[in-house]
Amino acid sequence: MSALVRAQDAALRARAEKVVPSGMWGHLHAAKLPEAYPQFFSRGEGGILWDVDGNRYVDFMCSWGPNLLGHHHPEVEEAAERQRRLGDCLNGPAEVMVELAELVVDTIAHADWTLFQKNGTDATTTCVTIARAATGRRKILVAKGAYHGAVPWCSPSLLGVTAEDRAHLLYYVYNDVETLEAAVGEAGDDLAAIVVSAYRHDLGFDQELPTQEFAKAARRLADAKGAALIIDEVRAGFRLHAAGSWEPMGVRPDLAAWSKAIANGYALSAVTGSDWLRKAASQVFVTGSFWAGAVAMAAAVATLKVVKRDGVPERIARLGQMLRDGLETRSRQFGVSIRQTGPAQMPTVLFDGDADFSKGSAFCNATLSKGVYFHPKHNMFLCAAHTEADIAMALEAAEHGFAAVAGLNVPA
Ligand SMILES: *Cc1c(COP(=O)(O)O)cnc(C)c1O
Repeated sequence: MSALVRAQDAALRARAEKVVPSGMWGHLHAAKLPEAYPQFFSRGEGGILWDVDGNRYVDFMCSWGPNLLGHHHPEVEEAAERQRRLGDCLNGPAEVMVELAELVVDTIAHADWTLFQKNGTDATTTCVTIARAATGRRKILVAKGAYHGAVPWCSPSLLGVTAEDRAHLLYYVYNDVETLEAAVGEAGDDLAAIVVSAYRHDLGFDQELPTQEFAKAARRLADAKGAALIIDEVRAGFRLHAAGSWEPMGVRPDLAAWSKAIANGYALSAVTGSDWLRKAASQVFVTGSFWAGAVAMAAAVATLKVVKRDGVPERIARLGQMLRDGLETRSRQFGVSIRQTGPAQMPTVLFDGDADFSKGSAFCNATLSKGVYFHPKHNMFLCAAHTEADIAMALEAAEHGFAAVAGLNVPA
């Protein structure tokens, strides 16, 4: 295996250690990735990424979701640059806010109105706040293990979180109607909202698409209780279906949270809502110093237009399927059994008998050294700038990855 040079990365980590607690925070904490992975990057172009030491990767994390069309997409960058020359952070929004709101309401099937924020957590939290304000109730149902952001009401860590922060959360199991019904029963007359992820994409587990039965039950139970059905589209939004991930199932939410891919890498999130929640949305106090930033909104207008015009979900689904089929064939050739789950455009690849992810890490370390950036336990992302040549390169690298894993299985 050719060793990658990591001198710059090591030097930056050493400096960061001194001035940033443990050198990095949250999901980007380097300890969460195999040791060969770089922490610092210098450049991105299309579906390609360079680390600070100049190593080039075909990138299947796509900035953990935001990179949907490819870095430096010309139409997005031109729209952002045009707005940047006029102004970004002004005393209020620019004209582009109205253009974007019209486009969002026109694009997202369930939406009668929209509000903009910066991060996905802003959007999920705003959805919960609006649902509580509209219903005058407290209980929020969430799936066990689902990620909805990094603030006390929903953080996956309990460190620094009080029991009171979680006092009105009740849990169900994704795709399990019985547990959903039980949680609705427990909430009684105090149910404000049912929160569902667009599909189940929990870290380190096989992904699951929602069943029709589960989606219909969530809608029926919310209606029966006069509660809001909230879909967290932050991760899946615009990769599965431009009008909403549950559109093909014919189930529409009352509120949805969007971010990650919405502005192709610019910081923006959105809440979309139905008319019965419009009044509550106009009364709650939700805001932020940067929420009206015009550059990200201009980028989002350009991004959404390209998504619709170019059939981006279909394109990345086709590329993802090519990757999936190729990985399946090669894993068999090497006698390694893998599980590929979730939508092809957001694949998770896990190895059988790999509770500690050592096989996944060996695979990823090997592919990384061949210039392909995979993730051992998180779902990955395709972007529209990936090419068939990128997929071919990824599959060639995967052969080295599977060989490394097969080597692990051979008794010494
Ligand atoms: C990333 C993510 C969030 C939080 O978004 P941030 O922009 O990181 O605050 C919420 N929900 C889901 C499903 C996510 O993937």
